[in-house]
Amino acid sequence: MNAAGCSDSTSLPVVETFHSLQGEGLHAGRSAFFIRLGGCNVGCSWCDTKHSWPAAVHPRRAVADLAREARAAAAAGAAFTVITGGEPLHHPLDQLCKALQSTGLPLHLETSGVDPLSGAFHWITLSPKRHRPPLPALLAACHELKLVVHDASDLAFAEAMAEAARAVGNQPHLLLQPGWGNQPGQELSVAYVKSHPTWRLSLQNHKQLGVR
Ligand code: SF4
Repeated sequence: MNAAGCSDSTSLPVVETFHSLQGEGLHAGRSAFFIRLGGCNVGCSWCDTKHSWPAAVHPRRAVADLAREARAAAAAGAAFTVITGGEPLHHPLDQLCKALQSTGLPLHLETSGVDPLSGAFHWITLSPKRHRPPLPALLAACHELKLVVHDASDLAFAEAMAEAARAVGNQPHLLLQPGWGNQPGQELSVAYVKSHPTWRLSLQNHKQLGVR
């Protein structure tokens, strides 16, 4: 049984699927197929997908059906598939990843890292939250560490997470992402990246462009 209360991983609650451009992180600007899973109990106050929180209101879809959609997106130009949420790791993702492997698209995961890793991914974006720090196993497995910045204490937390990743033998790409519409967060992030070259800025390009 997983955190979402269901052990059937051949179907998962899906908020939406769509083919767009990845808006954030190191792969920003690339064509991607997104699967947004329902369910999240992390409770970030600034969350822009609060509609995803209750898993039960989102219809369960068969992983084979999602793989069919991903295959169609690949034919239309998607370069990779992104599993996002919600918090996707509230669910066991092995069956979904197994089904998606048949599409030939690399699999990306976006997670806060509060649950154990399941499934197999080519790229893991870990976005740790101060009020619910990630598991060490996710810090060890992630390829990019993306921290949302609203105030100066977020910068201290970002450095603590980078140190925690190093402590478990990982050196992921380090990104600061200003909270959407948060002017202090934007100024702090720009100033910090200017003087700390191991970090780079991540902007939410999809919101700027008004696309999903
Ligand atoms: S972990 Fe993500 S989906 Fe969940 S509340 Fe935080 S920002 Fe929202």
